[in-house]
Amino acid sequence: MADEIRMTTLAELVATARCRDCRRKFRDATDENDWSFHLRDGAIDSFLCPDCQSPEDRAELDVHDSLLDYKQMKVTDGRLGIPLKDDN
Ligand SMILES: [Zn+2]
Repeated sequence: MADEIRMTTLAELVATARCRDCRRKFRDATDENDWSFHLRDGAIDSFLCPDCQSPEDRAELDVHDSLLDYKQMKVTDGRLGIPLKDDN
């Protein structure tokens, strides 16, 4: 069974996040902007560091970066909400 990532706040999430494949800690990373995460039912399912991302993961990350406003990201009831960018 995959690790269940429980979160109450974004700060706690960042403090406990690890790469799914190599177990590297996100908190200690110097390349944190390149990490990706996967969502399942609005909850974070897993993180991947840049070293462990496939080309498909990177493509998905680029799409998300262009669509989603990560600065407005927040956690509500254990679920992550990321609004779409408002370019207007
Ligand atoms: Zn990794």
